[in-house]
Amino acid sequence: MKNSEDITEWKQVPEELWNDWRWQLKNRITTTEELQKFIPLTPDEKSEIDQCLKKFRMAITPYYASLIDIHNPNCPIRLQCIPRIQELYIDPEELADPLGEERDSPVENIVHRYPDRVLFLLTKKCSTYCRHCTRRRLVGEEDYSISHSSLERALAYIRSNPKIRDVLISGGDPLILPDEYLENIISRLRQIKHVEIIRIGTRVPVVLPMRITERLLNMLKKYHPIWINTHFNHPAELTAASIKACTMIADAGIPLGNQSVLLRGVNDNAEILKQLFTGLLKARVRPYYLYQCDVAQGIGHFRTPVEDGIAIMKKIRGYISGLAVPTYVIDAPMGGGKIPIYPEYIVSMDENKVILRNYQDKIYEYPNVKKSLKKAE
Ligand SMILES: *Cc1c(COP(=O)(O)O)cnc(C)c1O
Ligand code: SF4
Repeated sequence: MKNSEDITEWKQVPEELWNDWRWQLKNRITTTEELQKFIPLTPDEKSEIDQCLKKFRMAITPYYASLIDIHNPNCPIRLQCIPRIQELYIDPEELADPLGEERDSPVENIVHRYPDRVLFLLTKKCSTYCRHCTRRRLVGEEDYSISHSSLERALAYIRSNPKIRDVLISGGDPLILPDEYLENIISRLRQIKHVEIIRIGTRVPVVLPMRITERLLNMLKKYHPIWINTHFNHPAELTAASIKACTMIADAGIPLGNQSVLLRGVNDNAEILKQLFTGLLKARVRPYYLYQCDVAQGIGHFRTPVEDGIAIMKKIRGYISGLAVPTYVIDAPMGGGKIPIYPEYIVSMDENKVILRNYQDKIYEYPNVKKSLKKAE
């Protein structure tokens, strides 16, 4: 499953090492010197990347790097994992904590914003660092996982709040942690009566698909209902290996959702997104959210106007299976949470009728139910 057969460095890697996620982690590309072995860089590019690395770190699994089209400077895989100098342009409107997660954090590593669910951040590490990451203030720090005392406080918080019925394990990427470590946490969450579902947010199926092993899935299966949300952004990421990872997850009875980010130059195009979303459905992954790129620092070059996002959604809804259409959301700065954004389908509405626009811009009328009559009943 090595895609870049032209890269001599990897030609020599035996298949079983390549398919070993620990080998992939150990051999991540983290410096420009390593990167140059795989991708030709001009001296200017090299110096620009080096400048970025002083502020934001880089890591790319050999697997994900092998998907880069080295002849295309605008390759969508490349843009997502190799720094560009624009990362150092920080707009005054950008925020270190764009979603205001720190203000909604009752104890370390927990974000409790909505009534019935919490985010539980288990690690700051990822196998591959996305250049567009929202949590770039956190990810990439040295800590492998959270401290023992912090873990206990987080579990105690969940245990003592009976309103929490949904725990989202996230990070960083929680699936870079060993099976035993994950099992310790998941089994203890499962013992809490009011925790109905456990969700795992991970980009592993996209950037490190070999991490999805039978061993991991046999462990997770014991603690159903488990859901996994992953993060595909471009159809080029739907490879034989990533599709196999999704298939294995689905076969373990774990429903899969996908959260994409709308990224300028990567996927801000209705045709590309339709390919991605229908491709995901084929792999049994339900497109869940499409995020407007948020105001994290140094990702301005990825941001698209909201009008473009709305126009793109207008070209998608109605044209492909409804199941393949995610909800386009803006995660509002300062802790406002996810706000759905829709093209305007309601032209007007009063107590007699609703005037509606369908996906083809045709106008229809629906006779409204009169509120006054309803009250009289
Ligand atoms: C996204 C998010 C959730 C989960 O939201 P859903 O809409 O249920 O997927 C929960 N807590 C926080 C802080 C979030 O950002
Ligand atoms: S996998 Fe998620 S947390 Fe990790 S760098 Fe990418 S977007 Fe950020």
